Amino acid sequence: VCPTGALTPKSEVSLVWKALSDPKKKVIVAIAPAVRAAIGEAFGLVGENGTEAAGKIVTALRAMGFDKVFDISFSADMTIVEEANEFVERLGNGKSMPQFTSCCPAWVKFVEQYYPDMIENLSSCRSPQGMFGSIAKKIMPDILEVPKEDLVVVSIMPCTAKKFEARRSELSKDGLQDIDYVLTTQEFARMIEESGLRFAEIEASAFDMPMGFKTGGGVIFGNSGGVTEAVLRNVISKTNDSVDETEQFNFVRGEDGIREAKVNVGGKELKIAIVYGLKNARQIVRDIKADKSRYDFIEVMACPGGCIGGAGQPVYKDLSVRKVRTKVLYENDKTLELHKPQDNPYVREMYQQFLGKPGSNVAHELLHSKHSNKKRLKEGPFTIHKSVKENRL
Ligand code: SF4
Repeated sequence: VCPTGALTPKSEVSLVWKALSDPKKKVIVAIAPAVRAAIGEAFGLVGENGTEAAGKIVTALRAMGFDKVFDISFSADMTIVEEANEFVERLGNGKSMPQFTSCCPAWVKFVEQYYPDMIENLSSCRSPQGMFGSIAKKIMPDILEVPKEDLVVVSIMPCTAKKFEARRSELSKDGLQDIDYVLTTQEFARMIEESGLRFAEIEASAFDMPMGFKTGGGVIFGNSGGVTEAVLRNVISKTNDSVDETEQFNFVRGEDGIREAKVNVGGKELKIAIVYGLKNARQIVRDIKADKSRYDFIEVMACPGGCIGGAGQPVYKDLSVRKVRTKVLYENDKTLELHKPQDNPYVREMYQQFLGKPGSNVAHELLHSKHSNKKRLKEGPFTIHKSVKENRL
């Protein structure tokens, strides 16, 4: 069950199998950062250090027949580049501060429905899933030499709320949704079983390019605090020349549901809050409204520990599982060649080829969206669960 109560999840596994067996279709897929840290649990790959299973996931997806296998961490890098640019702009003009992150659809929906007067505080950036779908539908028909209608885009997410997000009308163009189907980690594990693959034994393979390359900043997105840390890696190195390549901004990490940090950016002290759980988010919003607190940047993730604790991940009872998953992503960051999203060469290439610069009109058209409470209230069968209404989360 989705801990946000945002929706009743509907499985699209059979529709994905159907697309994979249709010779007319080209089916591409991307996996979210948090999935690699948890799927091993479904196949007995546990232990105090957990398992980073991205390579095995790629092999499994290719064996199932996906034409290209990409990494949502790539578009998470892109999200950071856009979101950090937006943050610097807001710092300059002082408009709609504090900036709220917008990558968690349960949190976005929460603001739209309960705090519509604060919609402008939400970053206008699409989530990494939203950015991936938009870029994939733009570039992949030519690369795969297939009409747009025959390109099927699938994402594998730790989350049931991402199914709702993929159906939002603003994440579509010319009558086609940017993301066609969303599978949770659990559903994907079921597909692996149905395929007869022995996940624990399969070899790792590499993602396809260009959207398979990522920096560590895109990977830690899956942990609470990861978005903030990646934004800081971008913003601070932009505004402070003395910041060293290896400098860490890991003071935003931690296990508490509300964490605060102060950081100096361009001679100005910024106050940041990192929050998970909608009850905690409600508390922060109430404090801001009552002028009890002042922040510049607020990251909110609905699930405990961030996406690694998402409702679509393998079920766990022991809370130490969350810690292990968190560690897997931070360790993965260390092993990657690059750590700052703005250094991703394929992200840079996309800006050079068609996006222009961060915040450009094209970037806005493809990578941003509008949030609207009125539209959301009318649309879809989804309702906020009574536990959210009663503020029990
Ligand atoms: Fe989905 Fe939870 Fe991550 Fe939000 S925090 S995007 S609801 S998994």
